[in-house]
Amino acid sequence: MAKHIYATLPDYPKSIGKKKKKPKTVALVFEGNCTGCEVCVPFCPVDCIESQPRSAFSDRPIPPVQIRFDECIGCQICVKACNKLTWDAIRMVPADQIEKEFNIKLSDTYEEALENKTQDKIDPKNAREISNSKFLDYWRE
Ligand code: SF4
Ligand code: SF4
Repeated sequence: MAKHIYATLPDYPKSIGKKKKKPKTVALVFEGNCTGCEVCVPFCPVDCIESQPRSAFSDRPIPPVQIRFDECIGCQICVKACNKLTWDAIRMVPADQIEKEFNIKLSDTYEEALENKTQDKIDPKNAREISNSKFLDYWRE
């Protein structure tokens, strides 16, 4: 059984890449399923998954992870890793919906994302509220 599960897992990336174009979908974590185990983190080929700040999750002993949306390349690898190994807490959602609900503009490249400081424009407490209210249907499907 274990052999079957691991056979369908993506490999760890051999090196860390960078976004070269804006993807159609980006990954989003549902905190209700995410234990903060960080199993998904080493699978991401652009290293854009990180723990949420404790300040926004003081009601939990371990905060869930979040995706730095503007660095995500939409590869879906984290979705498979979380689904196969842990709690099925990640979905791919349309990039334009992320832009609308989080009131951000996603960049075309990693360099632009850093320059635009997109991640800094998202308040973690607001992000929690937005994720839980606007995107829940993705986990109900
Ligand atoms: S593997 Fe899943 S449950 Fe674990 S931290 Fe990543 S998203 Fe959360
Ligand atoms: S979809 Fe790919 S790039 Fe985006 S967070 Fe998941 S593993 Fe990283």
